[in-house]
Amino acid sequence: MATKEEIMQWQDQYVLHTYNRDTLLVKGEGAYVWDADGNRYLDFTTGIGVCSLGHCYPRVTKAIQEQAAKLVHVSNLFINENQPALARQIALHSFGGKVFFANSGAEANEGQIKFARKWGSAHGGRYEIIAMDNSFHGRTLATLAATGRSKYRVGFAPDVEGFKFADFNNLDSIKALINDKTAAVLVEPVQGEGGVMPAKQEFMTGLRKLCDDAGILMMLDEVQCGMGRTGKPFAYSHYGIVPDSMSMAKALGNGIPLAAFEVRQEHGDVLTPGTHASTFGGTPLACAAGLAVFEAFDKDGVLENATEQGNYIMSSIANMRSRYPFIKEVRGLGCMIGVDLGDKIKEAVAACRKNNFLVLSAGETVLRLMPPLTMTRAVADEALALLDKSFASL
Ligand SMILES: *Cc1c(COP(=O)(O)O)cnc(C)c1O
Repeated sequence: MATKEEIMQWQDQYVLHTYNRDTLLVKGEGAYVWDADGNRYLDFTTGIGVCSLGHCYPRVTKAIQEQAAKLVHVSNLFINENQPALARQIALHSFGGKVFFANSGAEANEGQIKFARKWGSAHGGRYEIIAMDNSFHGRTLATLAATGRSKYRVGFAPDVEGFKFADFNNLDSIKALINDKTAAVLVEPVQGEGGVMPAKQEFMTGLRKLCDDAGILMMLDEVQCGMGRTGKPFAYSHYGIVPDSMSMAKALGNGIPLAAFEVRQEHGDVLTPGTHASTFGGTPLACAAGLAVFEAFDKDGVLENATEQGNYIMSSIANMRSRYPFIKEVRGLGCMIGVDLGDKIKEAVAACRKNNFLVLSAGETVLRLMPPLTMTRAVADEALALLDKSFASL
């Protein structure tokens, strides 16, 4: 085994410096992670909403171990037994559609964008996609072009064409952009990176109607807000609408790279053999992890717990507002929680970190909490106490 000093030196010398980071984590269990010096942290980042069941969730660990000894990968030239089973679980927990498997959120969204263009090519040559300001859809060239934060695109011109931007939660701004080239509208039901912004009910209902009236697709990005994060299997079901398609990724494999997009059955023939593919998409190993995640939803009371603890944390933080006037707003859905701290945000994240409490930021001013959906009330209380202590030091 290499020493910590060696690893840090190799990191510096051999790993491309696209991330600013300094902590070496070596172990995780449930809501906690440990660094190389043995320090324990309460982890409310969960790998940015990836290890949503907590670190090394026993059901998932067992599924990975067993599958690793049986069959890890076969190409998509063959059927593997876990892929159709996982597609069925996704369908049963959402809108009964058809699924394509990928490996990352960006790849799932790329596939979804290709789906929209393929659909549009058969519907009068439509190709434009209307995305939202402050959205985030990934770092590949097309998903970057769909991302409503231009700073991520600086230095990577020319942009992939065909994307326009409307204001999130503003139907009129979308309506104004729809023309005979529009294929789809792409929305995160709860914007994550943009600052934990839930869509309004009228917006989602109105958008469904707008898309139906215009004869275009309503596409959702549930890479972050899906897979139980908001207390339902997918966030759209809070709103009583059904999209035409939806991407998912982060928590789908509880840490094993696994992503997908699902289209309604009526769109099941848009992408035909040879039009889209992925070498690693939906391997037996990754799908075994995904199946264990849905088993946890169905058997371990994960979603009910996420709703209960998430609401408890949100209302408890809201109660801190009288003592900490810099808390401007507390918002979110289930265990996707944003606390708007204005210009205190950087200091607050650093203070939490000093108290061995790992949290995220989002947008320019928002503290983002993405706790494990499986946390106990005791863990929620520990987090609230650490947050209180951190706020008190500001
Ligand atoms: C993280 C994220 C992505 C990109 O996922 P990657 O796996 O990093 O490619 C896309 N959309 C949303 C909403 C995300 O939160």
